[in-house]
Amino acid sequence: MRKDDCIFCKIAAGEIPATKVYEDDDVLAFEDLSPMMPVHTLIIPKDHYDNIADNIPDEVMGRLFNTVGKVARLKGVDEGGFRVVVNTGDDACQSVHHVHVHVLGGAQMNDGDPSLKGE
Ligand code: AMP
Repeated sequence: MRKDDCIFCKIAAGEIPATKVYEDDDVLAFEDLSPMMPVHTLIIPKDHYDNIADNIPDEVMGRLFNTVGKVARLKGVDEGGFRVVVNTGDDACQSVHHVHVHVLGGAQMNDGDPSLKGE
């Protein structure tokens, strides 16, 4: 299931380039275009869901979040630590409306960092 005007659907279909970190039949992880940390990778399901509250089937949700650890290991932040962020809706400044998990790390964070508000 895809949404034609969705940029992340186009990345999942290989129609827009991205730097891939991990891929399997169901999910894709790729580098964020505007990284806010030394490690800033996004994980998406290949199928389109607007956000994490969009009735995502358990199996897809499981595959999405099971990929977090794989990405952390591939990016070398599994031991030092990392942060997982899922912006959802306007109040959280979600800018791409295809559910995605931010994996952020590679430097010491403080409480509340990064804001992911572009500030
Ligand atoms: P959010 O604000 O949580 O919706 O995050 C969307 C993220 O997608 C931002 O961190 C953007 O930098 C990132 N982004 C937007 N377009 C692309 C793209 N074509 N390739 C990789 N990352 C992108």
